[in-house]
Amino acid sequence: MIPAVLPTYNRAPLTFTAGDGAWLTEASGARYLDFAAGIAVNALGHAHPVLVAALSEQAGRLWHVSNLYRIPEQERLAAMLVEKTFADTVFFTNSGTEALELAVKMVRKHWHAAGQPERTTILAFEGAFHGRSMAAISAAGSEKMTAGFAPLLPGFRQLPFGDHAALKAALDETVAAVIVEPVQGEGGIRPLPDVCLKGLRAACDAVGALLVFDEVQCGMGRTGRLFAHEWAGVDPDIMMVAKGIGGGFPIGALLATEAAAAAMTAGTHGSTYGGNPLGCAVGAKVMEIIAEEGFLAEVRRKAGLLRQKLEGLVAAHPEVFEGVRGAGLMLGLKCRVAPADVVAAGHAQHLLTVPAADNVVRLLPPLTITDDEIAEAVARLDAAARSLAPQAA
Ligand SMILES: *Cc1c(COP(=O)(O)O)cnc(C)c1O
Repeated sequence: MIPAVLPTYNRAPLTFTAGDGAWLTEASGARYLDFAAGIAVNALGHAHPVLVAALSEQAGRLWHVSNLYRIPEQERLAAMLVEKTFADTVFFTNSGTEALELAVKMVRKHWHAAGQPERTTILAFEGAFHGRSMAAISAAGSEKMTAGFAPLLPGFRQLPFGDHAALKAALDETVAAVIVEPVQGEGGIRPLPDVCLKGLRAACDAVGALLVFDEVQCGMGRTGRLFAHEWAGVDPDIMMVAKGIGGGFPIGALLATEAAAAAMTAGTHGSTYGGNPLGCAVGAKVMEIIAEEGFLAEVRRKAGLLRQKLEGLVAAHPEVFEGVRGAGLMLGLKCRVAPADVVAAGHAQHLLTVPAADNVVRLLPPLTITDDEIAEAVARLDAAARSLAPQAA
């Protein structure tokens, strides 16, 4: 009999009842060190007192009024995002997928308003992940996500990751936009080198195509900059944000330049819950904390520490691990064994990690992780690796 909860997930047999910083308490009472952070969502850890206070205060005052009226919390968070980024304007959603949906609509509307309604093609990259809606799976195009869901939406094309010749051949004046994750998350923590992001910006400019960055996973301080593309020094025209921005409260955002967004006039898009006072009150606090003097420098310092320890771990277990890659506190351990086995071995050591494609285990701790917790996590990974290769111990 089908379970009451539609069984679309392979869930671990763990039930968490409380969280505090980088620690989760399981129903059994056991404490787990959280290097998954709800898949890069709990950027400030669990039950951060400032976020709890912001949500509680807002919950006691006003939950929802709809976008028929002005929402000061929404205007405030939008102003913060505009101040800190390339963007001139922001639309709030409840998830990353919804931000992708608006990105696609905005790109299409842009070219329609520009008198080129036939310019609809959006290029994406193999290994990409943009969400699970029809547009999002059509954009990413992987067999794993699209099988059985045909017909897909037309107008998307996927290019091999890192294949400059293929990009050059495909990117012409018929292309409306290119969408890319500066660091692929689900695809296996694959950073696009700075020189490639720069080249992509130049190639888009040469044909007038819009450049869309999906920073749903790699944004909000995860790589040690507020947004990952800042490392390369290039700006997109449109950017999707979600996951970390709510610190665990569901909220997403679509950021855009005025030129890219100009055709999205009243009535062209909407969302009942998008930009509601609860999500925006929390999002503003997350932004405030990440933008605080020294916060991102500390993320970069801790990222260096974690990476150095992981290099040592890989060297100590060459039969289990092949290497470390990624940026900031968005790191991947490339495995020689099934990543799911490494994740399960981590569970046995009360450590949470996340599997990804390309034989990678993702390490996505809260950005507030401490040096001691980093050392503890690597010790637990070491024990997990030893449990997977007892003959080599
Ligand atoms: C998680 C993710 C999405 C989808 O976000 P949801 O909030 O699950 O809809 C889109 N793009 C990237 C890069 C992601 O990691």
